[in-house]
Amino acid sequence: MNKQQTDYSLFSRLRFVLVNTSSPGNIGAAARAIKTMGFSELVLVSPRFADAIHAEQAVAFASGALDVLESARVVETVEEALQDCNYAAAVSARLREFSPPVVSPRVLAAQLSGDVTLNAALVFGNERFGLPNEVVQKCQALINIPANPDYSSLNLAQAVQVLAYECRMTELETRGGPMQTSGDARAPGDVGFQGSSASVTEIEGMFAHLEQALVSIDFLDPDNPRKLMPRLKRLFARAQLETEEVNILRGLARQILAPKAGGARPAPRDQSSEGE
Ligand code: SAH
Repeated sequence: MNKQQTDYSLFSRLRFVLVNTSSPGNIGAAARAIKTMGFSELVLVSPRFADAIHAEQAVAFASGALDVLESARVVETVEEALQDCNYAAAVSARLREFSPPVVSPRVLAAQLSGDVTLNAALVFGNERFGLPNEVVQKCQALINIPANPDYSSLNLAQAVQVLAYECRMTELETRGGPMQTSGDARAPGDVGFQGSSASVTEIEGMFAHLEQALVSIDFLDPDNPRKLMPRLKRLFARAQLETEEVNILRGLARQILAPKAGGARPAPRDQSSEGE
């Protein structure tokens, strides 16, 4: 993703991340789904077969989307896959007790399309096991395709297709449709102060720091952490943190861990000098 981008369209701001994919066929089919909808960025996190991109099945299923398949980045960790992103959405068939807010594909698409400051990643899970909780908790939203409740698990590449389709439809309506009257890509809601959204890496660093601070004051028991951190992550996921806000929280953690001498509490004010 190019940070200097002048093209604000979602087509250059959206990344598809497939985590621990088993079937090279699904990787190829996902590349095809992505390309048919006008997107191009595919990242594979530790696929089952290291050379999945060149596997016969992947190539066959990609069909005319070999360019997307061949330019896919293969990385080892989800953190690497989310680098440069300031928004990540976990796409999951499973709802969980502790997760970021659950959002439908259509609502997500509107949010991504409407906010041109977002460089977003859609994170998909493994065919059998889905996404682990630790990955879901790194994300700001959990996207669930509201399928048949009696049989709700789509094939991986088909889930990619649904998300890519929804994002395309919304993007065309927002930026490419007949309603568009100017080249200004900013949504009307963007008026007023807006800091830059914190990156996933910044948010992760802040949580590690905060956790350390909470342990140091015995607020969090590492041997019995209960659901404190997942709850806090959920709370902050709803807040859509900006970089400066993350820095404030880190400042708070830093002060808890190493209070400056005499700096923890303000010195009492000298009442007698008031009004002089
Ligand atoms: N048995 C797995 C399902 C994996 S399907 C589980 O219980 O999670 C492979 C991937 O396709 C999922 O990780 C998810 O990214 C996507 N997917 C499939 N069905 C979905 C649905 N109804 N909503 C959102 N994502 C879905």
